[in-house]
Amino acid sequence: MRSRVTNRRQYRRSATPFVLFHFVPLLALLTGVTKTALVLLVGLYVLRMLAITCGYHRYFSHRTYKMNRAMQFVVGFIGTTAAQRGPIWWAKYHRDHHKYADTDRDPHTPKDGFWWSHIGWVLSGDFHDCDYRGMEDLTKYPELVFINKHDWIGPWVLGILCTVVGGWSGLVLGFFGSTIGVWHATFSINSLTHLVGRRRYATPDTSRNSFALALVTMGEGWHNNHHHYPRSVRQGFFWWEVDAGYMLLKVMSWLHVVHDMQYPTPASMQARLIRTGQFDVGRFRQHFDRAVHILPEEATHVRELLREAADQAATMASTSTRRSRVQT
Ligand SMILES: [Zn+2]
Ligand SMILES: [Zn+2]
Repeated sequence: MRSRVTNRRQYRRSATPFVLFHFVPLLALLTGVTKTALVLLVGLYVLRMLAITCGYHRYFSHRTYKMNRAMQFVVGFIGTTAAQRGPIWWAKYHRDHHKYADTDRDPHTPKDGFWWSHIGWVLSGDFHDCDYRGMEDLTKYPELVFINKHDWIGPWVLGILCTVVGGWSGLVLGFFGSTIGVWHATFSINSLTHLVGRRRYATPDTSRNSFALALVTMGEGWHNNHHHYPRSVRQGFFWWEVDAGYMLLKVMSWLHVVHDMQYPTPASMQARLIRTGQFDVGRFRQHFDRAVHILPEEATHVRELLREAADQAATMASTSTRRSRVQT
């Protein structure tokens, strides 16, 4: 598998703090585990996972509903506390993911390996900077540009608040523990939902639906539905496709906090269904790409076998010639 890491030194420099970050919650062995820290751990996981799915993803990236400017800022700021960069950066690369899904221009396709799609693309440093052309629907708001540029403010504010409220235990478990949880839940949508699960729609990419991932990520696991109809506010298309993010937005709409929610049309729900015999172009492309990747290696192997066979044939031929000369 080809590696997309262009600067190994930069990659190691980013990966080291990222890996070390995962050991911080172990400091709870020294600080002890308080009830407040556990409440922070669960509460901040749920709050920030909802901010990522309902805010960064469904609102900033896909504009699947509307809300007023003040709420937009609040949701964007809560999103920054998840330490996944700013809302405009996040939306820009996510829109690119949909535009170029599972091609060489996709920032995080699992075609380049699980690790690359999970977090490698961020650690590579190649996507640190961003070309914000085409993002004018978001860059026209100076307050969003500010939190996008100073995306460190959110995590620091939350980290300090956790320390004030829950002490050292609140910091290492409440803040660091939940941040790591939200990271991997979000990253799994870029990696696992293009690798495991079932496909309902013949999308041109490898997206899949996964009930387990939908539970963990508040509805993001219905990724094949989402690639089929990205403008839909709900990612679980049926009542049994649990989508906590959509449930929250539905309640918010009753309270008139959000409005103009977008839904797939009945015709689009029935379009490109694999079970109706629709050609699954996404899966075909996946297998084709893999075959093209493997073929040169296999061709070399077959060429070696043929050369060995030719050598053996030549040896046998010369031996039999020698024998026949001896007999004559
Ligand atoms: Zn995807
Ligand atoms: Zn999306």
